[in-house]
This record gives sequence, structure tokens and C-alpha cells, in this order.
Amino acid sequence: MVFPIKYVYRFGNVNTDGDRSMKHLLGGKGANLAEMSSIGIPVPSGFTISTEACKSTIDNQMAWPESLFEQVLDGVRHIEAEMGQRLGDDKDPLLISVRSGAAVSMPGMMDTILNLGINDKVVEAIIKKTNNERFAYDSYRRFIDMFGNVVMGVGHDLFEEAIEKLKKEVNVKQDVELTAKDLRELTDRYKAIYRKETGHMFPDDPLEQLRFAVNAVFNSWNSTRAIKYRQISNIHGLIGTAVSVQAMVFGNMGETSGTGVCFTRNPSTGEPKLYGEFLINAQGEDVVAGIRTPSPIAELEKKNPEIYRELLNYTSKLEAHYKNMQDIEFTIEDGKLYILQTRNGKRTGTAAVKIAVDLVNEGVLSQKEAIRDLVDPQHIEQLLHPQFKEEESKQCTLLGKGLPASPGAAVGKVVFDSKKAEESEEPVILVRIETSPEDVGGMSSAEGILTSRGGMTSHAAVVARGWGKPCVAGCGDIVINYKNRSFTNGDVTVKEGDWISLNGNTGQVMLGQKELTEPVFGKEYHTFMSWVEVVEEMKVRGNAETPEDAAAARSYGAVGIGLARTEHMFFKPGRVNFMRKMIIANSKKERVEALGNLLPFQKQDFIEIFQEMEGLPVTIRLLDPPLHEFLPQEKEEIIKVAEELGVSSEMLANKVNQLKEFNPMLGHRGCRLGITYPEITEMQTRAIIEAAIELVKQGKVVLPEIMIPLVGSIEEFRNQREIVDRIAQEILSEAGENLDYMVGTMIEIPRAAILADQIAEEADFFSFGTNDLTQLTYGFSRDDAVKFLPAYIESGMLKHDPFQVLDKEGVGQFVQAGTRLGRMTNPDLKVGICGEHGGDPSSIDFAYETGLDYVSCSPFRVPVAHLASAQATLRKQEDTAQVQEAPKALEA
Ligand code: PEP
Ligand code: MG
Repeated sequence: MVFPIKYVYRFGNVNTDGDRSMKHLLGGKGANLAEMSSIGIPVPSGFTISTEACKSTIDNQMAWPESLFEQVLDGVRHIEAEMGQRLGDDKDPLLISVRSGAAVSMPGMMDTILNLGINDKVVEAIIKKTNNERFAYDSYRRFIDMFGNVVMGVGHDLFEEAIEKLKKEVNVKQDVELTAKDLRELTDRYKAIYRKETGHMFPDDPLEQLRFAVNAVFNSWNSTRAIKYRQISNIHGLIGTAVSVQAMVFGNMGETSGTGVCFTRNPSTGEPKLYGEFLINAQGEDVVAGIRTPSPIAELEKKNPEIYRELLNYTSKLEAHYKNMQDIEFTIEDGKLYILQTRNGKRTGTAAVKIAVDLVNEGVLSQKEAIRDLVDPQHIEQLLHPQFKEEESKQCTLLGKGLPASPGAAVGKVVFDSKKAEESEEPVILVRIETSPEDVGGMSSAEGILTSRGGMTSHAAVVARGWGKPCVAGCGDIVINYKNRSFTNGDVTVKEGDWISLNGNTGQVMLGQKELTEPVFGKEYHTFMSWVEVVEEMKVRGNAETPEDAAAARSYGAVGIGLARTEHMFFKPGRVNFMRKMIIANSKKERVEALGNLLPFQKQDFIEIFQEMEGLPVTIRLLDPPLHEFLPQEKEEIIKVAEELGVSSEMLANKVNQLKEFNPMLGHRGCRLGITYPEITEMQTRAIIEAAIELVKQGKVVLPEIMIPLVGSIEEFRNQREIVDRIAQEILSEAGENLDYMVGTMIEIPRAAILADQIAEEADFFSFGTNDLTQLTYGFSRDDAVKFLPAYIESGMLKHDPFQVLDKEGVGQFVQAGTRLGRMTNPDLKVGICGEHGGDPSSIDFAYETGLDYVSCSPFRVPVAHLASAQATLRKQEDTAQVQEAPKALEA
């Protein structure tokens, strides 16, 4: 039948309607099931209800759009035909699963219902067919529990209590010890709980069960936890979840059945070897929920070599097909292997880089594909995570060892609940028996996560790896007592608030605060970054004002310094008092004297930075901040500093008072300082040029770029440039040396951006100071925005903090206009960006699109910026290729 809008897409061994390009409509899961079907992977038949159906239903107060019910019925018939079973049949009944799946993976955030289709008649048929009454009732009671909980909101704990009570009555410890008779009794008790809690009988019509279940999945799209997850993970622009309805296959039909989860390569290290775990005689959720501890996948090879080989065959095929490491769920039903799901596996930064390099070396991918698809800027950022100074610690008490679920080192105070973790202002480690999707807020706030139960694919492990957060999972050595808010290992007790250290690489949990150290990079990292640097068209510089930071930036591949904030140099001990003397000077003479004392320090700093950056440009910005930042504010401090300066505390207090401004960020700062006190600009220019000359005399190449801050008009720029050029020329001619230096400006005032053509006539370069530009464009104070920005973001009024992610729509217009106008009058104008946004991937993409020559960011973000710049370049190349191909396609 043809429907006006297609909401249902089939997959299976014979008929498949979709493919992997349809993620927006079928969700990642649905699109991949369709894709797997089409390449001959054995998936149980099913169909996917589109995200559009979800949106329409939610928009219409849960009324299904026209024809959705008929299309679902058609879908059910499709499954029945392919599986040779019928829903609700009394001989060979079909059971189905109903699962959520959005275009972007949100592990465990939305609802799933398994074993749908069971009722009193069907359960008898299953018993006859399988000759396994225990299995039949186990499935039935699980279904009532899941359906009751997910669809009707009946507390899962009520069902848990019932099973615990029954186990006591029949005197067994484990669920698996319950007999068929026990489980039949349990099914009746579950139904009674359902009836009592909902006021209805448990629905026995499978189609009614299905309709309820689909609605529950639709609704779970807007559950609090799903919304929160999307917020934390920055997932925007999706319209809803798709719902995949699929024939159930059973891993719990006895010893020839089982279920497992595996990655085609190790998701922590990238080692090219099947990695995962499985359980014999179990259903999927037993593995994921960490209720039973599964066996490593390698043991499947010993247990059932044939199935293992078959699994290996499919997993390799999937990895080669998707050109990416896959995370695969499988079930063996009575000796037959089914693949239930595949998706690109979440991985650590280390693994991402190794997998990318290995796949290129194996000939699966090109270098460009590896850069574009296999490593995210966040992965590179993760690689820069600290580690413990020494892996094994002598000073720390080892509290236990769990699974090294997500690498990196974390130190924090123990908290046992997520809310506390979210509220804490101190670094915390979230300690839970196991985590659930309810915990995502706390997991995100914590430095690291420790669980006492669960495997490498438990919720905690998967989520932590995705976020690059250190995690030790399944640490059975510790016993957690939520009530006492403590955990123990033998006679050692750790209370809430005590410090612990987690090693996500080894699984060690230690008492106390271990010392952290900078990360080390493997050879794959260097290989990968060398490819990246070849691809990137827009260069990356570092923001640095110390020789150490300059060296770090250069070691990460920065091709220059884009911003050296000179004021930072004055905060160092031994200098700040000269600075203060300059500020409190009552005459030019006094000021010049104080500046004279600062000159040698400043010059030495520049010598060291120029040395580190030999042959590369160094942009030095003249003094920028409001002067009161250098003065003490509290009474005791004023007394102390006055003593050090040899002035009276009254005089200093007066000066502090005089310098107070209503809006310091709009006050006496930036080039306004150099204009009112030209001797500051003179001293700084002298320090820069004299330092450069010293190195030039040693035959070194020095490329200073002197940058005037907070310019709003050509007159301001002209005033400062005149001083810089005058002093520079004086010194150079005195020394008889030549030096190529540039004089440019920050563009951080909207007025400067729209009059950039005038400024560029006299400036050699521009650097967008997007911190101030954002402040002045939005009118959001940089220092006070924390009071309201969180509320803006929470309510969706703003998608991101504009001080972190460039507001392309608004602030971006000034960047575009400034670049365009500037290059109009000065085609050679060099343009860069040096605000915080210079290290943010989406802002870097924008900078590239705008045609900037470079971005500049803090040294530790330089590698991230390299990758973002290379990815932006590749995106552009692809778009250009598509545009060029289009006419050919039309001709064809
Ligand atoms: C800026 O405003 O973006 C900038 C880089 O300068 P600062 O943050 O020092 O004001
Ligand atoms: Mg600024």
C-alpha cells in the first residue's frame, strides 16, 4: 500500500527500505540496521518508525499521524513474513523489541521494551515450542517489569522487592536459581503489582502493547534525563527519536545461547583486536546493566570456535564497510548468530588516534578521511589530559583495583550522589555501586567516576569514555554503603569528603591526593598530527607570554605567537611593585623612573620569548588592562603594599580610590593608557626593539609584531603607531641595525570592525580580540555574565556561552566585515584571531570560512586547533568538489 507520508521503513533479510544515510529519519540504530541488512549481515527482521512520526505525535498531544497505525501493521506483517512467526500466535509466536534511537547516540537515555507480545496464551506456546518453561516465564516476568516501569511508570523497585521476597521464600540466592514454577508464581505477582499500581489489567493484546510501547519511546525523547544529556553533550537540532521494532532473538534459551557486546578494536587503547564481553544464557540487558559479570570475548573462541569465527567475519566486514571501529551487539539463539546493532564505537583520544593511523596503514582509509571522520577535536583534547606522576604509588594506600574503563587520572573528594557532585565547588569523584542515566549530571561534573559493579561496557564505562573522563568500573574490592556515606575495603573506611585518586589507565583506586603530571604522546599522535599540519590551510599560533608557554606552543606545532599579553609579565614578584610605582606616580618624571626599572625585566622576557620562537612571528600586545588591577583593594593589603612602596597607606588608599571606575572594562585601558601616558608605549617599544636587536646581532631571525589594543578609531591607532615607529627608528639607527617589524592592532571594538578600511590603511595586521568584541557586541560584561548566562543557556535562549563559542550570527558579522574592509584598503593585511574562540573548533571553522590567516589559542589547545583547521579545510574542499561535480550530474 502507498501512504502519503512514509513513516515506517523495513529492514531484514529480504526487504529493506532504508540505508545508513538516513540517520536523521531512522536514527543511528535504524539506519544501521537497514544498512547491515543490505550488506548481508544476519539481523533479525524489523522496521523503524521515523523521527518525523515522533515529532508529529509529540506535537499533536500524542495522537499518531494519519496512517501511522496502518503502516505499523504493515511493518508487523513484514516481520512475521520474514521470521515465519506471528504476533500473538498460539503455536509459533513472534516476540518483538521496541527501542529508541536518535540520529546522535545517547546511550541509555531513552526507553527500550523487550519481549513484547507475550500474554498468557503466548507464554504457553513458547513453552511448547522451546520445551523450556523456565525461559518462557522468565521472559514474561521481565516483560511485565519493563513494560510496567517504562510504559506505565510503575517503580522498578516494586518488582525487585517481589523477586527478592520470592527468593527468600524459596530459599535461593541468585535469580538463575529460581525454577520455572517460581517464575510462573513471580509472573502472577508482577501482574498483581501492575494491576494495583495502574488500576488496569496487564494488556494482553500484543498490538495494544506495541502502541503503548511506541508512545513510551516517543515520550522518552523529552524525559528530563534525555534533555539534560542533550544539553551536556551539546546535541542540538534533532527533531525526535526513531523507534526500531524488531523480532526478538533469545540469548537466554540455554547453554547454546548467549549475548554479547564487542568493539572491533580496543576502545581504550586502539589495539587492533576484537574487544568485548559476553554471557552465556543471558539477555542483552544483563551485559549492559552490569548485573552479571560477563566473560571476555576471547573466551568465546574457546567455548565455541565456530561462532567466534563467524562473529569475527561479520565484525571485520562491518568495520571495513563503515571504515570505522564498530561497537556491535550480538546474540546467539540456540547456535545461530545474529547481529543486533552496529555503530561507530565511542573511544578514548588515544584509541581514536591509533585507530585512525592503523586504518590508514591498513589501506582502509585515506589520510584525509582519517582526519575528517575518525578523530574529533575533543579526542585530541583528551590526549592532553593529565596523568599521575608515577603509575604505582608508594605513598598512597591502594584501596582497590577495578577495570580501567576510561583512561586518565582524576583526583577529588568522594561523593556518593550525583546531585552532590553537581553542587560541589570542589573537585569530586562520584562513587556509585553502578551508575544509571539519572546520574549523567553528576558524572559530567565529577573529575572521575568509580563504580563497584559493572563491566567495560556498563553505563559508567561507556559514558565516561565518550566524555574522556577517567573511570574505574566494577571495583569489587570496595563495599559501598550509601546509608553511612562511606565505602570500605577490609578495615579501611573512606568517608564522603575524603580525597581519593583514580587511575583510569590501570584501574587503581588510591586514598589521598596523588600528584598529576602532563600527558605523554605516542608515535601515532605525531604521525597523525603531521598529516593534519599538511592538510590545514589556516595556520595556528599560540597565546603565550612566558618562554615556557612559548616553548610548549611551538612543541605543539604553533607557527608563531598570536598574542603575548605584556601585562602578565608585570604580575611576577619583583616587578609588580615597580608597576605599582608607575601607576601611583604623581608626575611624568616619577612615572618614567618607574618604567625605567621595568624595562630590563620586560626586555629580558622578550629576549627569551624571541629565542624560543626564533624564525617565527611573535605578536606582542602593549599594555591593556585597567590599572587598578595591579593595586591592592583590601585594607590590610593596602597597608602592606604601602610599606613595600615606601608611601603612606592613606596616599595609596587615595590612589586606589581615584582609580576606581564604574565600568573598568570600558574605562582607562587599552590604547587609552598609551595615549594618556605615552611613556608606557615608549618603554614597551624600547624593550621589544632592544631585545630583538640583541638577537639579530647573534644572527638570529626575529619577527616582532607590535599590537595596539582596544583601538576604536584611526586617530588612536595613528597616535600609537607614531610613538612605536619613532622609538623603533631611534634605537635601530643608533644601533645601526635593520629589523623587519610590524605594527598592527587588535580589532575588538565594533567601531573598529566597521571602520576597518580606514585603520588598515595604516596597520600591518589585525587580530580579532573576540573576547572584548563579544562583550561589546552583546553588551554582556565579561566579568558579570556568569550571573545570567547559565539561565540563558538552560532556557535555550542561547545555545552556547558566546564567550566560548563565537556568535557567528552577530559577532561574526563584525569579524567578516573587519576582514573584508581591511583587505579592501590593504590587500596584504594579515588577519588572525586571538580571543578564547581561537581554540574552539566551531569558531575555528568560522575563522577559516572568513578567510583568516591564522587562529591563536592557549598552547594546550594548539593541537585541537590544528585538527579543527584541517577539518575545516577538508569540508571546504568537499563542498567545492560537490559544486564542480554538479553540472556533470545534471548533464548525465
Ligand atoms: C580579546 O579581547 O579577545 C583578547 C584577546 O584580549 P583580552 O582577553 O586580553 O582582553
Ligand atoms: Mg581584549
